[in-house]
Amino acid sequence: MYKSTTVVNQILLKPSFCRQISTEFLNQPLNFINGVRKTPTSQNSDEDFKVFNPAKGEVICETVSSGAEDVDSAVQAAKDAFPEWSRLSGFERGKILMSVANRVKERGEELAELEVYNNGKPIWEARVDVQSVIDGLEYNAGLAPTISGQQIQLSGGSFAYTRQEPLGVCVGIGAWNFPVQIAGWKSAPALACGNTMVYKPSQFTPLSAILLAEIYKEGGIPDGVFNVLQGQAETGSLLTSHPDVAKVSFTGSVLTGQKIMESCAKDIKKITLELGGKSPLIIFADCNLENAVKGAMMANFMTQGEVCSNGTRVFVERSIKDKFVEKLLAKTKQMKIGNPMHEETMVGAMINKEHMEKVMRYIEGAKQQGAKILCGGERIIPTDASLSNGFFLSPCIMDNCTDDMTVVKEEIFGAAMAVLTFDEEDEVVQRANNTKFGLAGGVFTSDLTRGHRVSANIQSGTCFINNYNLYPIEMPFGGYKQSGLGRELGRSAIDSYTQTKMVYVEMGDVDCPY
Ligand code: NAD
Repeated sequence: MYKSTTVVNQILLKPSFCRQISTEFLNQPLNFINGVRKTPTSQNSDEDFKVFNPAKGEVICETVSSGAEDVDSAVQAAKDAFPEWSRLSGFERGKILMSVANRVKERGEELAELEVYNNGKPIWEARVDVQSVIDGLEYNAGLAPTISGQQIQLSGGSFAYTRQEPLGVCVGIGAWNFPVQIAGWKSAPALACGNTMVYKPSQFTPLSAILLAEIYKEGGIPDGVFNVLQGQAETGSLLTSHPDVAKVSFTGSVLTGQKIMESCAKDIKKITLELGGKSPLIIFADCNLENAVKGAMMANFMTQGEVCSNGTRVFVERSIKDKFVEKLLAKTKQMKIGNPMHEETMVGAMINKEHMEKVMRYIEGAKQQGAKILCGGERIIPTDASLSNGFFLSPCIMDNCTDDMTVVKEEIFGAAMAVLTFDEEDEVVQRANNTKFGLAGGVFTSDLTRGHRVSANIQSGTCFINNYNLYPIEMPFGGYKQSGLGRELGRSAIDSYTQTKMVYVEMGDVDCPY
């Protein structure tokens, strides 16, 4: 962790390459509680941390983790806002969410630039993430009025009905790879259902969630309904163990997911866990080769490979392996690495130096275990001098991989694709499933019967046939095995942010044996 002695909770540098971000936004404290930007008042035992602009390798701000007082005040704000927000009809909440979606559209470019500034991904990808936030708001705005129960006719004219009720104060905790998207994917359904939320972004990417909170306020979300709290592990754990929190929705590593599950067990809090993966992509000889190559790149190289659902184990049928690798290599070498604010950039900067070096160590280890590095895995110093300290790594293809290699077993979370070969369908499905993870998987084939059969046999929460890494807002998303618990997106998210109450209505007299 970065060490620092100064305690500053505001942004130190104006980003020269962010055209849209105002100095006013940057100069305010980083917590957002009850509709107001606030400086954390209490520090916990986590060290202060430095927030980087990954493309320049320079510090944007230093901040402290919010402590118990801040956590209490954010949870209290959300608790106070809950009665009024939850009493609105679904239609009324939906109209507000739609107005928020329109405001995000107006300020979308600011959000995208802020994301690039703090995460390092290319601007076109950040725009896709912002669009996904808008989609989430519009989709859940549409669903809000439809959240309803059942009526059940009972004997003697009595009846029962069910109510889908909100849970109360929900906590969202996010990872650093899709900061604004994760904040949007969690908050839109939570708020649509009548809950209020305290959201903690990753300490590496604290910025875009605050701008989102400000936009929510401008769009009509009342104060206290959506709050943002900055911090690291201890802030997270103060939130997950808070007695007034009804649910925790977490996106991050398996290790942290385990801790959160333990912490929530004490009060039997509801949880959703979106965790890591090591997903398989299976390419059969009868596939459309051009599409399969594109699919493998989509499955590995977006956001510098820092994507949970990436299909990093690429199994290719032996008879087409050489042809596949040749085409893949040619296309990968053409990917433009550099300033993530430039429209033509395909590979931006990795989140920080430590993570970049960790990915490089994985690739070095693969070499030692017998993999052949066909390209990439090297630190790139862009010709633009202002980016010379940035964390740029070229996308890597590792050939001749085998199932026992560390890079084939562990989540790397960088652009490092392992190519493996197979001969038979049964064999490859068995190898694909030989992992503790189960987030996603994919198959490329022209035989649709086989496509459906293989996707049915892959043990994962998502399976793509003839494409990869597309997440329309209507699709439920989540993992099998250690990749998670519960689902985000789609109608499933509504189920996960509501609880069912049964109301029995007696139409006759009480038939009592006493
Ligand atoms: P991480 O687990 O280190 O941190 C995630 C968040 O948890 C951060 O906000 C962090 O501050 C917080 N945290 C850490 N310790 C905590 C604790 N004890 N209690 C509460 N909160 C705590 O993960 P990361 O490095 O930010 O993200 C990378 C991981 O996230 C990868 O494994 C990736 O696969 C996974 N991920 C999964 C999805 C998904 O939807 N399945 C999406 C994105 C990332």
